[in-house]
Parts: sequence; structure tokens; C-alpha cells
Amino acid sequence: MDKTQTCILQLGALDELQRCIRTLASRSLFFVVDEAAYRTCGAMRKMENVFQGFDVVRFSGFEPNPKLSDIERGISLFRQNDRDVVIALGGGSAIDMGKLIGLLANQPSSARDVITGAALIERPSTPMIAIPTTSGTGSEATHFAVAYVDGNKYSVAHRSSLPDVAIVDPELTVNLPKMITAATGLDAFCQAIESMWAVGSTDESRAYAIEALQLAWSNLRAAALSPTIESRLAMSRAGHLAGKAINIGKTTSSHALSYFVTSQYGIPHGIAVSLTIRQMLDFNSRVKTEDCTDPRGVSFVIDRINEIIRALGCTSVVHACELIKGFLNDLDCPSSYHEAGIRSDREICEIVASANLERMSNNPRSCNASALFELLSV
Ligand SMILES: [Zn+2]
Repeated sequence: MDKTQTCILQLGALDELQRCIRTLASRSLFFVVDEAAYRTCGAMRKMENVFQGFDVVRFSGFEPNPKLSDIERGISLFRQNDRDVVIALGGGSAIDMGKLIGLLANQPSSARDVITGAALIERPSTPMIAIPTTSGTGSEATHFAVAYVDGNKYSVAHRSSLPDVAIVDPELTVNLPKMITAATGLDAFCQAIESMWAVGSTDESRAYAIEALQLAWSNLRAAALSPTIESRLAMSRAGHLAGKAINIGKTTSSHALSYFVTSQYGIPHGIAVSLTIRQMLDFNSRVKTEDCTDPRGVSFVIDRINEIIRALGCTSVVHACELIKGFLNDLDCPSSYHEAGIRSDREICEIVASANLERMSNNPRSCNASALFELLSV
């Protein structure tokens, strides 16, 4: 049976932290924190007050996109102190780091072996409370975490890694700069689109995805360019729902192609993913029986593409692709490799060759390297 999560998504949700910690019957906390986010998001005063009643060990100073050396440092600190709850505060990287430490510290095998798949996960994660300070990654709603070992990207998944509690407080996002709002919001936007066409999608995951898509499409411009508390609340909801969608259906081609772009060029995750989203919408709309990978068939996939197009207020794929390009450019974000300054054939071949095969196989239309190169090199 899948683990269930308690989610508090509202303005002022952080006020519920003390009650949530008590619900988990915890005394000793392991606080995984992005210090910069902690200082600027407005959570610090409230949380320090709450922490006065508990025994807290802090872990911070880790790089974005969790790397093995930082994960091992966190595990070692966790094991030196007997902790019964992990609290993670920050963006997707901090929440993934909390999940990785809470799970991997309990395993008899090394972190390297578990992450790379050389050893099995034998024990469940320590209970966890996730407090996102960005809206978009949805990490607080998923049972997996991204980790990098020797420059290679892995996804560590276990049902117990779904945080027991998600405290999603839009007030924590009001000071987010424009580009972080755009990048994380675009992650939610792309996760919602990919969840609509994912081979692994279900009725439930698509219900989350379509709502996330509509919310992000209607509110991300405002949240990034002229934020109001309403647009922040809508984007918090969009990010969380898109997270719930990928927790079931997983991501697809645009994510598969993004990891190398982030690690090689330092392009933030959400922007790296959105570089190929309109191209993949166009590509997937031309699915045929011979290249359809979804057992539900071509007409099922086309129905999902049409749902995406309708959610964007469009009547054709061409129109939707044009509007997505305008949407990205309004956010000062590139809408192709070319616009991102990645222009040589060699660079695009390298990205195509890097595509994560597991995520690629979740795309509803099979795509070989030459088709991808042709699609993405304009
Ligand atoms: Zn993502």
C-alpha cells in the first residue's frame, strides 16, 4: 500500500510546524536547511521559536543538486546523533537532500552502492517533514530524490521516502527573486505537461497534472513579473500538484534531456527542462501506431495532447507551441537550445546521447538520436 502524506497548503501553514512535529512523536530533529533560503524566506523566527522545545542537529552547506560527498557528510552527522525526524527546508535540492539522508543513513550498504543500484534498499526512511521555499519542483510530494555520483545523475526511489508531512506555505515564497520564481515555476509547468502524456500516467495523476498546468499557465507570469499573494498561492498549489502527478506517472523526454544540460552548462533545472518542452509537444503530437510506446494506443495519446492544448487555451499544436515560446520569452527564459546559446552540432549530439533512458522510455512516442537531433537543433 502506498504511503499517505499529510499536506498543509495554505497561507501561514508554517504555524502548524510544532503540531506536526508532536504528531510524529518526535524529540530529536535533524534539520536539513538551505541557510540562504532560511534567512530570506521569513521562516527563521518562527522555526527558531519552535526548535526551542526540541533537540536539533543542523546540516547545511551542501551544494545544489545533491552530490555523494555532501550526502555522505550528512549521513555521518545523522548517525553520530540518534535522530527520529528529518525536517528539510529549502528548494528541491534541500528537500531531496533530506530524503536521501533520511533513507540512506538507515541502510547497511554504502550510500554509493544504494544510489548507483549496486545494493538494495533494505530499511525504510526516517519520518520526514518537508518545507519548500520555492514553488515548482514538487519534491515535497514525491517518493524519489535526485543524486549525483561521479557526475552521473541517479534517482533514488523508495515508497517510504515520501515525506510524512508537507508544509507548503506560500508566504515563504514572497521574497523569491524573479528568476528563481520563473525557473521553479517552469519546472512545475513542464512536469504537468509531461505528466499528461507520460506512459506511466493514470486517471489520478492526470487529474493533478491538468489542474497544475492550468494554474501555472494562468499564474506564473504574474508570480514572476508582478507577484501578488494570490499568484504565489496558485503557484505553490501548481508545484505541489505537479509533484503529486510525477510521483505517480514520472517525467519523460524533456526531463531526460535536461540533466546533462544542468550539470554541463549550469542552467537551472526548470529552465533546462523547458528548453525542449514545446519541441516535444510538437514531436509527440505526430505519434503513429508504429512509434507509439503507450499500450493504450495512438488515439489515447492524441486525446491527452488535445487536453494539453485546450488547457493552454489553444486550438492547434502550432498555436500552443507559439504561445509556449512567448510565455518562456516573457519570463526572460530561452525556449530552445539555440536561444540558450547551445548551437553547435557537437553540443546537441552530446546532449541527445546523454538522455536518461529510463525517463525517455516513459515518453509516449519513441525517439531515436537522429530524430531528436533534428528536432532540437533549430
Ligand atoms: Zn523537474
